Amino acid sequence: MSTAVKHVNKKFGDVQALYDVDLNIQDGEFLAILGPSGCGKTTLLRLLAGFESLTDGAILLDDSEVANNKMVVPPEQRNVSMVFQSFALWPHMNVREHIQFPLRHHHFVDRALKGKMADRVNEVLRIVELEDFSDRMPNELSGGQKQRVSLARAIAPEPKLLLMDEPLSNLDAELRMEMRREIQALHQLTKASIVYVTHDQGEALAMADRIVVMNKGKIEQIGTPEEIYYYPKTPFVATFVGKANLFKGTWHQSSVFTLENSAVSWRDWGIPDEIKKENLYPLRPEQITLTNQTQDQMTGVIRSRQFQGKEYHYSVDVAGQTIIAHLPISKKMEIGEEVAIMPLV
Ligand code: ATP
Repeated sequence: MSTAVKHVNKKFGDVQALYDVDLNIQDGEFLAILGPSGCGKTTLLRLLAGFESLTDGAILLDDSEVANNKMVVPPEQRNVSMVFQSFALWPHMNVREHIQFPLRHHHFVDRALKGKMADRVNEVLRIVELEDFSDRMPNELSGGQKQRVSLARAIAPEPKLLLMDEPLSNLDAELRMEMRREIQALHQLTKASIVYVTHDQGEALAMADRIVVMNKGKIEQIGTPEEIYYYPKTPFVATFVGKANLFKGTWHQSSVFTLENSAVSWRDWGIPDEIKKENLYPLRPEQITLTNQTQDQMTGVIRSRQFQGKEYHYSVDVAGQTIIAHLPISKKMEIGEEVAIMPLV
């Protein structure tokens, strides 16, 4: 299903949660909405689901308007399912009943699917590997199993659009990794469009076809994971997604960057114009090397060093700024040492 969010504004009383959000989601696409707490991710998802009314703008599902400032088509009349962070299971229903529920009650479930309800429930139980748990109640399941029930309930009615609100954040680190793979496999299998809300850049980069980065109710950038990671267009995206250091200085004819309070220049490696306009030079921690050859180089002093197995993470004081650099363990520097900071790009 194709989805269009057209210039949507959303206010809760005096609080404006979304500003002019404009976005198209292709049929079958896996789109991640990434941003810090309070940036409006959940609000956007709830508008897509039909749980909220919008203040201005419109939402279209397959070219048909489902929300504008005068009306909202309710969730059960949209071909949409949602997976919640809290699992949102019903304590009085067993696993099988959870999966049956949307097949019985959603308006958009077609007759053919309703006619083979028992088969569909068994098929979904198999997909999420819960065949042996179909009679269990929610309080008899682990966190990972609960989230699988919540996924099963969502995919059972074959929705064209699957909305996921931080579905893995209540699981431990190892299980999160496993469930990432399972959600990717579900996407391949169902071919539904997925809108996946997260504040975890690792999840968004790993799973999505495209990422929408949001900040303070606005879209900062939309792009593939590679575009967002390698070519952030705003200082916010550069620091939020790639944890980039932003060096201050001056761009000359958009090709050479001179560092602030220094005669040292660095070359352009395809830095987006939007960042150049701010006279900034972004370097992620792994794009920096530190050496003892300090002559004619940008220098700083090592403040801290953390051993991380494959590498050392250094923080370095440079011209009133603290920057982070990740170096292989062959490059061991001492705290207090003066070092040259050089781009690896
Ligand atoms: P988180 O990652 O913490 O869940 P979020 O990015 O999903 O955050 P939203 O829940 O969409 O953010 O909230 C966006 C803004 O709207 C916040 O400032 C929030 O306080 C406000 N907000 C959300 N729901 C309501 C509500 N029902 N009434 C008033 N303000 C609200």
